[in-house]
Amino acid sequence: MFVSAIIAAAGRGARLGSAVPKQLLEIDGRSILQRSFDIVDGHDRIDEVVVALPSDLARATPPILASSRKPVHIVDGGERRQDSVASAFAKVSKRADVVVIHDAARPFASRALFTRVIEAASEGGAAIAALAASDTVKESTTAGGARVVARTIPRHAIYLAQTPQAFTRAILAEAVRVGGEHPDTATDEASLAEQAGHAVRLVDGEPTNIKITTPADLSVSEALARSLDPESGSSIAATRSSMLPLRIGTGYDLHRLEPGRPLIIGGVRIPHATGLAGHSDADVLCHAITDAILGAVAEGDIGQHFPDSDPTWKDADSVALLERAVQIVRASGYLVANVDAVVIAERPKLLPHVPAIRARLAKALGVELSAVSIKGKTNERIDALGRNEAIAVHAVALLARSLQAGA
Ligand code: MG
Repeated sequence: MFVSAIIAAAGRGARLGSAVPKQLLEIDGRSILQRSFDIVDGHDRIDEVVVALPSDLARATPPILASSRKPVHIVDGGERRQDSVASAFAKVSKRADVVVIHDAARPFASRALFTRVIEAASEGGAAIAALAASDTVKESTTAGGARVVARTIPRHAIYLAQTPQAFTRAILAEAVRVGGEHPDTATDEASLAEQAGHAVRLVDGEPTNIKITTPADLSVSEALARSLDPESGSSIAATRSSMLPLRIGTGYDLHRLEPGRPLIIGGVRIPHATGLAGHSDADVLCHAITDAILGAVAEGDIGQHFPDSDPTWKDADSVALLERAVQIVRASGYLVANVDAVVIAERPKLLPHVPAIRARLAKALGVELSAVSIKGKTNERIDALGRNEAIAVHAVALLARSLQAGA
């Protein structure tokens, strides 16, 4: 099943009263748009993403959208919500079986919720996330200049619509057509599918899947950002590591020494008779530290991000790879606190090169010199390392949650 996602992000967010467009306001270090984009970008059932932005933002595509591994299209949003969705729908792949639409202003929908809505739409044609009303519901009227209760509506039948909302391609095409002819603004796609005569299934939404509309929502959002698991949408228990301010990772690497190769350790070229063999520059120290910092945020390892089957990384500068890993860590909301590594090399002597290595790595990691420790060890002439056939490195990295303030 091919699934396309549309992110409706063309609104102006006037009710927030901010000079910065709502989409770009930051919550705990990531913009509202980026957070919503990251949900669909990281969802394994979604194959492509179309983002409808206000035309001024669409012209300068935010870099986070450009760095996706999925096909991403940016379209100019229209005057009304349904016009933006129509423009986005025109860019959706012809292969799409199901199209899921999500408001950028709901950055806390879980991936599990997307899965449930996509599955319900593929079965029933149309499905939306919706929350059963928990408060008693009143219909209002005006009497003597005051607003009064006209009647109480049985709440068991009342659901409050959220996004994601998903449709088969054919049903969304009808909804888009109905929306285009409609004189008013439709507040969601489901209402247009309903008008086209389709049954829309209700999928249990999430109370934390709030729509950010007012300044008060922004302060609630800061707390949600720190306490929600993006996969399940459930609250992270205080003991869960992802809520803790610190993360630790370990890395290990080994490369063989061969004649005719340069010896590069920690980004520093060291004069020596042999050098490290490998697809990239074989910088064993950079590789171990890269794995340590990726490991600290459970983002896999260097081989996953920079596979040696990919010619892009042939003879790659491993300091550049390390810098990329630092960016990945930052996107997860963490900064490198300190790094410690042991380089096991029988020869050459590492000590004379340690100051240059520390300086190079501190710069790449974005930390002070005092946060980088590099120790050389021999293997006491034991085993392959001791016979000078290879160099190995053990590294640990500590990360601290980024305290970057929201807007
Ligand atoms: Mg390596």
